[in-house]
Amino acid sequence: MGAPYRGRFAPSPTGPLHAGSLVAALASWLDARRHGGVWGVRIEDVDTPRCVPGADRLILEQLARCGLVSDAPPVWQSARSALYRSALDRLVAQGRAYPCACSRKDIEQALAAQGRPRVRGQEAPYPGTCRDGLHGRPARAWRLRVPDGVVHWQDRRLGPRQQDVSHEVGDFVLLRADGLWAYQLAVVVDDADQGITHVVRGEDLADNTARQLLLQRALGVATPSYLHAPLVLGANGEKLSKQNGAQPLDLAEPLRALNEAAAVLGLPPQTGAVAAALAAWVARWPFLQSRGD
Ligand code: GLU
Repeated sequence: MGAPYRGRFAPSPTGPLHAGSLVAALASWLDARRHGGVWGVRIEDVDTPRCVPGADRLILEQLARCGLVSDAPPVWQSARSALYRSALDRLVAQGRAYPCACSRKDIEQALAAQGRPRVRGQEAPYPGTCRDGLHGRPARAWRLRVPDGVVHWQDRRLGPRQQDVSHEVGDFVLLRADGLWAYQLAVVVDDADQGITHVVRGEDLADNTARQLLLQRALGVATPSYLHAPLVLGANGEKLSKQNGAQPLDLAEPLRALNEAAAVLGLPPQTGAVAAALAAWVARWPFLQSRGD
């Protein structure tokens, strides 16, 4: 309320943009423009083993070919460790984060001992082993102490959503055992630091939102509004990704790529110049924010 609209597109530079990631980029840009807001690009390169050298520059070039240019210079998460460190220090000082000595195997054994065997294909919820101390074991990771209760939030496209994070996820990782900052911490700290008022991203990320709300509350920062855009599915029916055949966008034909992304968002095809096509879609943008949200 009141704060001027600030949106962002936050790609992980694990490869070039493909048809799926362009939908998220286009949706976030159109939403920002429709609300008269500012739009920025944040390169989410904290998970260094997954990053591909040069993919960041390529993504920025692909976006530019599609007429999607960051209003402020893009930022790289790899340059922002000090912010994540100070957020974690604050949480630790307040008793909201704690060190954890558990390996994956320790977690599975503890869950089995509690009669909560691991569900295939799902991340095992953390059973809380180190909540009350390490008992002499060495710290590996740092976790958020998740309060009990169901987290409710509203998605502008998906409607009301809820998740019992303490039960389904448990105390989640903020600083990983390999010394890398976890996505959840980096994204929440950056959205707050950059004054992001509206998060528009792919629906595959919707399940992270409840965790991010808890982290925002723990850090005492504002919660943006959320819109999770439809996904492009690969041949196997799962979210399009490099693993199931996504091709890098064809830079020679940006309007074709944009038209495909626009169709996923329910927008009609355009011909002519990229800038005119973007303007036509802004005018027809279907996901409008009601006043006062
Ligand atoms: N970097 C994340 C990804 O590419 C997106 C994070 C976000 O938009 O919150 O999947």
